[in-house]
Amino acid sequence: MRITKVSVDRVAAPLSRPFWMSREPYTTASELIVRIETDDGLVGLGEIHGRPLDQIAAIVTGTFAPLVLGQDPMEHERHWAAMFAHTHTRAGAGLGQADGQPHFGAGARPQIMAAIAGIDIALWDLKGKICGQPVWKLLGASRATVPCYASGGYYGPDGGADVESLVAEMSGYAGLGFRAVKMKAGGVPLAEDVIRVAGVREAIGPGVGLMLDANGAYDVPAAIAAARAYEPFDITWFEEPLHWYDSVYGLGQVAAATTIPIASGESELHRWGCRDLILHGGVRIMQFDATRAGGVTEWLRVAAYAASHGVLMAPHHDPQVHGHLIAAVPNGHVQEVFPNPVRDPLWPALFTGQPEIVDGTLHLPDRPDFGFDLDPAGLARFGIGRDARDI
Ligand SMILES: [Mg+2]
Repeated sequence: MRITKVSVDRVAAPLSRPFWMSREPYTTASELIVRIETDDGLVGLGEIHGRPLDQIAAIVTGTFAPLVLGQDPMEHERHWAAMFAHTHTRAGAGLGQADGQPHFGAGARPQIMAAIAGIDIALWDLKGKICGQPVWKLLGASRATVPCYASGGYYGPDGGADVESLVAEMSGYAGLGFRAVKMKAGGVPLAEDVIRVAGVREAIGPGVGLMLDANGAYDVPAAIAAARAYEPFDITWFEEPLHWYDSVYGLGQVAAATTIPIASGESELHRWGCRDLILHGGVRIMQFDATRAGGVTEWLRVAAYAASHGVLMAPHHDPQVHGHLIAAVPNGHVQEVFPNPVRDPLWPALFTGQPEIVDGTLHLPDRPDFGFDLDPAGLARFGIGRDARDI
C-alpha cells in the first residue's frame, strides 16, 4: 500500500462572544484537518491545533507531503523521523524561510511540530483502517471507557470575574454527571479569584473535583501566594500557573511550595520538554496535546516516560483522538471535554461519529480507526481553504 495524496483543510469558526482566559481572549475556534489517501482507496484523517493556519498548511503540503507520498503508511516512525529532521539537520533547508526554516530565530518550530502532528495522526487513523481495529485496541486497550472532566469557567466577555454565570455554568456541568470541572484563574486580582473559586466549590459541593487553569498568569511568588489561597478549596490540580519564560525550573519551586498537584504540558512541543517538566517542574499531571505537537507517536513516548515517574496523562482537548490514547496506556488518567457549544462550535458541527460522552464518561468507538468522519456540511460552513498534493 502506498500514500497517493495529502491534503489539508483550514477551518475557522469565529465565536459569538470572547472567552477570556487569564491573559487573552479566545475568539475563534480553528484547526486544520489533514487527509492522507492511499492507492487502496483508504483515507486517514488527522487534526491539528495551531496557528497560523496558512503556515502550517504550507509545511504539510509543501514540505512534508513529498516525504510521505509513494511511501508505506504503516511506517510511522520512519516518517516521523524524516519530518522531525527538519528541525535540527540540513533537511531544514528544505523549508522556505517564510514557511518556517528553523534559522536564527526566524524559525517556526511550533508550526513544524504541529504539521508533524497532523500527518502522524492521519497515519494512525489509516493504520486502524488497514488493521481493521479501533486505534485504542491497536494500541493495547487497557479499557473501553475513559473518565472526562468538563472544562470551561472562563472570565466574562469583558474579562471580568462574572461570578454568577461562572457558578451557574460549573454547577450545570456537575448536573450533567461530570465528576470534575475546571475553571480559569489568574485573570483578576487574587481576592476576586478566591471569591470565584469559593463560589464554585460551594455550588458543586465536596464530591466534585475542581481544577484551576491559570494559562501562564503568574510569576513564582504570585503563583505560590495564589496556590496557598486556593488550597482550602480542595483543588485537584493547578494548571500552567507560570508565565512562559519560567515555566519549568520556576514551576518546580511552585510545586514544592503548595499541596496542590501541578499540571502542565499542553504547550510543550516534544518529549524532551515534557521530560524537563517532570524532572524539574514537579509536574504530577502531564497534559501533552498530540494535536498541537508531534502526534500520537510523540504522545506515546511522553506517556511512557511519565509512567516511569508516576506522572498521570490528562491530555488537553480533542477527546476523539486523545480518548484512544488514554485508554491504551497504564497511566491514562482523565480527558478534557468542552461541553459549551458556544465555546467549541467545531466539535458538534465539523465531525460525525464523535465518541459518546455520558455521565462524564467517554465510550470509545468500535469501528476501525479513530471513529470519526468529517461532516461535509460543517466543512462547507467553516472551511476557509484547502491545499493538496498528490503523486
Ligand atoms: Mg489549559
